[in-house]
Amino acid sequence: MDKHIFIYDTTLRDGIQGLGVNFTLDDKVQIAKKLDEIGIDYIEGGFPLSNEKESLFFERMKAEKLTNAKIVAFGSTRKPKSDARRDPNIQVLLNAETPAVVVVGKTWKAHVEHVLRTDEKENLEMIFDSISVLKQAGKEVIFDLEHFFDGYKDDREYAVQVLETGSQAGADCLVLCDTNGGTLPSEIALIMTGLPIDSLKPLGVHFHNDCGTAVANSMIAVEHGAVQVQGTINGWGERAGNANLCVFVPNLCLKMGFQAHMSSQLKHLTSLSRYIAEKANIIPDKRQPYVGEAAFSHKAGQHADVISKAHNLMEHLDSSLVGNERKIILSELAGKSTIVKKLSKYGTFDKNSKTVNKLLETLKQKENAGYEYEAAEASFDILIRKTIGKYRPLLTLNNYHLESYKTWETPSKTVGRIFLTSDGKDIMGAAVGIGPVETLDHALRDALLPFYPFIQSIILIDYRVRVLNPQDASASKVRVFITTSDHERSWDTVGVSENIVEASWEAILDSLDYYYNNFVE
Ligand SMILES: [Zn+2]
Repeated sequence: MDKHIFIYDTTLRDGIQGLGVNFTLDDKVQIAKKLDEIGIDYIEGGFPLSNEKESLFFERMKAEKLTNAKIVAFGSTRKPKSDARRDPNIQVLLNAETPAVVVVGKTWKAHVEHVLRTDEKENLEMIFDSISVLKQAGKEVIFDLEHFFDGYKDDREYAVQVLETGSQAGADCLVLCDTNGGTLPSEIALIMTGLPIDSLKPLGVHFHNDCGTAVANSMIAVEHGAVQVQGTINGWGERAGNANLCVFVPNLCLKMGFQAHMSSQLKHLTSLSRYIAEKANIIPDKRQPYVGEAAFSHKAGQHADVISKAHNLMEHLDSSLVGNERKIILSELAGKSTIVKKLSKYGTFDKNSKTVNKLLETLKQKENAGYEYEAAEASFDILIRKTIGKYRPLLTLNNYHLESYKTWETPSKTVGRIFLTSDGKDIMGAAVGIGPVETLDHALRDALLPFYPFIQSIILIDYRVRVLNPQDASASKVRVFITTSDHERSWDTVGVSENIVEASWEAILDSLDYYYNNFVE
């Protein structure tokens, strides 16, 4: 068995069909370069006929020198009863001037009849002609067999005929697509075992995740002879998404003994996953296998103690292989060894030292008051700094005023002012916004920006509020978490109060303090 697998990324085509996934043209170009750097073999750039942004992407990519990847333009077979050489579907693929193209063709008879409104024989001719013309033009042709598995289950003979037609027309790879994502791993094994694989061109696969098995299906498929696997970064895609390359590729290379050009670059996988999430303005899924923030995190005290002694007793894999890192999560449950581990950034502390005991005590008090540091490590860093005398305050607050007003006809608005002292200077900031939290944040930035240019590059990317004691109705305590980013890294902070503005203020102040203490000279 050939152990090399080609990885085909469709984040920029299928991925953007996913809920909430959007990229600008610049983003697409930047992402393509990153995908190339990590060793992806094929980058599907989109459907040049669909809109201007898609066709401009191909234009822009002509000027980019890629080292690993081939850019692929996506399109379909010629229309029924037309001449492939003059067909607009084929023309647009030629005009994209990419080294490789994808042609999608129908495999399921029901689609031939109801969607194409033609007959089975004409469908085979459309496939044959389209691939032949593109081959004659010197293209590498990847033939996507839409709804292959459903088609096979409906009429095996016709599905195999479609495969043979693609092969005879000269396609370089025949991709079995599970377009509606309804096929299970056991069926993949059965169906692929029944294919005349030796008489066909190389096979690829394209799975959707509607049954939660897109990665498992891809793994089964390579064991049954597929040599190309299509998927997306973070598994984004239509409906429940596509096969997640951030999970599939580590499984393939680190567990199954296959090779891919990405094999040697896997240590960049976590940062790639987060980079693309940042571009899409989507908060990374913390529970994602391999690359998620929680993938190598440990909570219980005893568990964390074992981990600090030997990672391989509790983790399935060394997190650095995929560029992730182990995280010891803070909580009341955590033992002293967790605190020692967190403190190691600042020096060596004994488990029974005064500092460790004091921090543990503070942590317990804070957690009783409603703070939670599991998802707010930057706030915990500030606690540590204050305990060991390494805290440099950015400011002291004198006061802030916020006034929300609304009339019958006009929407609500908030006017705010803040007075603070920083570096011995008394400063004032003001802002007008919609809600009080936003206004306070803007007023604070207004005050600090002239003295601290770093404020400019810091943005709030997520804000979450949780009510801690809902039974107390409007007097409830709330916990606010915020995520802040400087476009390269992100960090989380927490605030707790009966007043949502006050809880937000604490979290905002911690977030600026964290950056100021850790990254500003
Ligand atoms: Zn798809």
